[in-house]
Amino acid sequence: MPYNYDDQNIFAKILRGEIPCNKVLETEHSLAFHDINPAAPKHVLVIPKGSYVTYDHFAQIASSEEITDFVRAIGKVCKILEVEPSQGGGGFRAISNSGEAGLQEVPHLHVHILGGRNLGPMISKS
Ligand code: AMP
Repeated sequence: MPYNYDDQNIFAKILRGEIPCNKVLETEHSLAFHDINPAAPKHVLVIPKGSYVTYDHFAQIASSEEITDFVRAIGKVCKILEVEPSQGGGGFRAISNSGEAGLQEVPHLHVHILGGRNLGPMISKS
């Protein structure tokens, strides 16, 4: 079943400038901003500017330029947040909740970058 992108989702409104965000980084194809309800001391969302619902949607149909820009933007955010393990940062977790099982709340692809504390086990066992 093809993805239907809802252009009234909150991140689409941020991209159109209809509501503000606390911007961390903007590139040609990507935007990163602080999560409004942080789950860790460092919690940034990285989104593509294009209309993609989930990670798999993006991976399947985005252009190479968009994909490169997005992946590099995630790397730049890790640098800005000073979480890069190779640079003495404490490490991070990158999460992209997708669809029903992933409990995705906002239907515009986003990767959470979390750090600043020990983040515990990857998922709940139950
Ligand atoms: P998810 O459950 O993976 O879809 O995560 C959606 C995330 O978006 C949550 O962590 C929310 O706190 C965050 N969020 C919702 N609205 C905003 C907003 N206006 N600005 C920044 N983050 C937001």
